[in-house]
Amino acid sequence: MKEYEYDVVVVGAGPGGSTAARYSAKHGLRTLLLEKKAEIGVPVRCAEGISKNWMDEAGIEPNKWFIDAEIDGAKIYSPNEQHVITLSAEMAGNEVGYVLNRENFDKYLAKLAAEEGADIWLKSPAVDVIKEDRKVKGVIVRKFGENVRVNAKIVIAADGFESQVARWAGINTTLSERDIVTCIQYRMVNIDIDEKYTHFFLGSCAPGGYVWIFPKGKNEANVGLGIALSKLKRRGEVKEYLDRFIEKHEYLKRGQAVQVVTGAVSTCRIPKKIVGDGIMLVGDAARLIDPITGGGIANACRSGKYAGEIAAECIDNPTEECLRKYEEKVRNKWEKKFIRNWFAKEKLAQLSDETLNKLVEAISEVELKEISVYSLLSAVQRKYPDLIEEFEDLI
Ligand code: FAD
Repeated sequence: MKEYEYDVVVVGAGPGGSTAARYSAKHGLRTLLLEKKAEIGVPVRCAEGISKNWMDEAGIEPNKWFIDAEIDGAKIYSPNEQHVITLSAEMAGNEVGYVLNRENFDKYLAKLAAEEGADIWLKSPAVDVIKEDRKVKGVIVRKFGENVRVNAKIVIAADGFESQVARWAGINTTLSERDIVTCIQYRMVNIDIDEKYTHFFLGSCAPGGYVWIFPKGKNEANVGLGIALSKLKRRGEVKEYLDRFIEKHEYLKRGQAVQVVTGAVSTCRIPKKIVGDGIMLVGDAARLIDPITGGGIANACRSGKYAGEIAAECIDNPTEECLRKYEEKVRNKWEKKFIRNWFAKEKLAQLSDETLNKLVEAISEVELKEISVYSLLSAVQRKYPDLIEEFEDLI
């Protein structure tokens, strides 16, 4: 078997992997970025919504080439659609600000990695990790059909939701059914939507999740939904939910789908462990998706950056102990929010349409200055004092 030597090998050229490779190479480490597909960024498996506020931290400058639409805010609809909460982009959180063109965005991030000196291999899936004395020492890669050995001091697993690298390395990131949301989306053209807003629909139209409409420009949008796996009874049901939603809305009904996207997101808390001897997990492979919105692009980029930087700090001592600095950074940044949002997600999934109608009605009537459990529940208490009991456990 042919052998290659690198300081760092990154598995997966999504946003997390390319950013990890970029910062690892920037710090002078010999870095290899592996991608199993023939082209980075396709097929897109994403609704492409992001907020603006994290890009600076990840070192990404907004650029028209990878941004399809700029969004003013979010509209959140009650199940009966009689009440709407309108939020500015700043208040709306993770997914509101830009709608990306992921095909270009992912390529752009890979380009930044290449400019810092990372090598990129396409059509090169990692098929196993190399382990010595239980320490990860590289990966076996099927490079254009031929198995080769890549020795590396540190492996960064950025292989997405279906991550196998973590499992091969002995790190458990298994998900329970309640923490998986199954998604389907159509890229629709010839529709009539308010393109300045991203639109979210709650309730039984998407049990345990929501329906989204993310505008991609005039008369064009990603229209999709996610449903908790535990709420689905049979295969194909997610598509029926989406088709039913579209059929019910005149402004969508006249449209046509030019692309179908399927996939899944995790909605769990951060796993017990995301590093080991010689290995770090980033992005979806580390389950860093917001449990309530299902947004993961921003966290993938930022965790990728942290991993690339910590790789440089630990390259002469790539032990679990040293790499734990990365895990601590991730936990300090997101753990509290993930726990809070996980509980909120569990609660939302239990609410009836009737309760959600009241909830959205109460919140839509106040002018929100900030989004906090306190401010939201105060609004509910004023309008429907009896309803507050439902949220006692959340408080
Ligand atoms: P990925 O983007 O999944 O990249 C992983 C890469 O690894 C892929 O290119 C894959 O081909 C490659 N790979 C896998 N295995 C191997 C291997 N063995 N060897 C080599 N390469 C490998 N997030 C948002 O922020 N906003 C949204 O609007 C949004 N909408 C979504 C809608 C849907 C339907 C879905 C499914 C997800 C959505 N997400 C959204 C989540 C978002 O797509 C992910 O969080 C994000 O892509 C994570 O980036 P990543 O780099 O960790 O993983």
